[in-house]
This record gives sequence, C-alpha cells and structure tokens, in this order.
Amino acid sequence: MKQKKKLDIWKGMNNMLKKVLSSETCASCRICCSFVKEDAWESPVFSEVEMEQIRRLGISEKKFYEIEQNGRKGYQADYQFENEHQILLCPCLDEKKGCLLGEHKPFECSIWPIRIFEDENGGYLGLAEVCPAFSGEKKRILMQELEEGGLKDRILKEKNRQTVIKESETGYERL
Ligand code: SF4
Ligand code: SF4
Repeated sequence: MKQKKKLDIWKGMNNMLKKVLSSETCASCRICCSFVKEDAWESPVFSEVEMEQIRRLGISEKKFYEIEQNGRKGYQADYQFENEHQILLCPCLDEKKGCLLGEHKPFECSIWPIRIFEDENGGYLGLAEVCPAFSGEKKRILMQELEEGGLKDRILKEKNRQTVIKESETGYERL
C-alpha cells in the first residue's frame, strides 16, 4: 500500500512535470543532481530502503554518511569539495542515463523543484528559484496544478514520506 501511494504521488508529479519540463531540458541542466559546497545541504537524504537499492546498484556505501535530525535517520552523500566552486554530482547520477534510482529515488527528488519545509504550522512548500525551467507560462501551469489541481495539498499530506525535512533556506519562493 505504501509503495502504491508513493508511486501515485510520483506519477502525479511526473505527469504534471512532463507538461512543462522536457527530458532534454533536464539532460542539459542537471542542476538538481549536482552540488557546490554552499548548496550541499540540498542534496537528498536517503532512507534505509533507498540505501538498500543503492547497494544493489553497486554504488559504494563509502560515498555516504549517516545523519540524524529530529529523531529521524538517513544517509547523505559525503561530498569532498576541494574548493567553493567545485561541482560534484550525486553518486546516484549516471551522466548518460540520469538518476539510477528511477522510481525509487527519494521523495524529495520526486517532487523537485518543489521542496517541503518545516514550520510552526507543520510545513509549507517552496519552489526552487535555481530551476531554469519554471518561468512565464510554465510557472503558471505549475501554480495552477499546485493550487487548483490540488497537488499542493497532496504533497503536504505525504510529507512524512520524506526522510528528513530540511529547515527553511533562501533560494526558494514560498508557495
Ligand atoms: S533544475 Fe530544473 S531544469 Fe534543471 S535538471 Fe532540475 S528540474 Fe530539470
Ligand atoms: S537521487 Fe537521483 S534525482 Fe536525486 S539528486 Fe541523486 S541523481 Fe538526482
């Protein structure tokens, strides 16, 4: 049941994203799967189940470290930046095939460029300003799906699916 629900929201989000985001756009961008030191906090936190999938794919565990936040455990890529400008790729990204985790990617990756943040009312959504795909008409379609299509509420209802919810940061437009 849990897996079905995960696929439902993943499918809903992907159907919506397909309307506005072409795979060619992402293939030539990859911003959300690559990080500099300053934005490494944005890299996904993997659950134990996702780590099992990562191990099955033969990606070295040594590339990750364990983290704990608000009593929830997860794993994050251990990026070894040599300087502030170096760009490092998520260990799950294959430059030709894209994300090797496919439908098993972390929830937070499946809803990108939306991110869930924690606040005193439980949580809210932010839209990543760095994603170049959502402006003008594309942003209008996204906002329509979120508000009128009910996607915003559906994502927030699933927030426990996210391994760790990050604190509010700059670079996101509050939705
Ligand atoms: S930042 Fe936006 S356009 Fe770039 S790869 Fe991610 S979703 Fe695609
Ligand atoms: S898990 Fe996949 S979608 Fe998420 S950052 Fe890594 S490569 Fe990108």
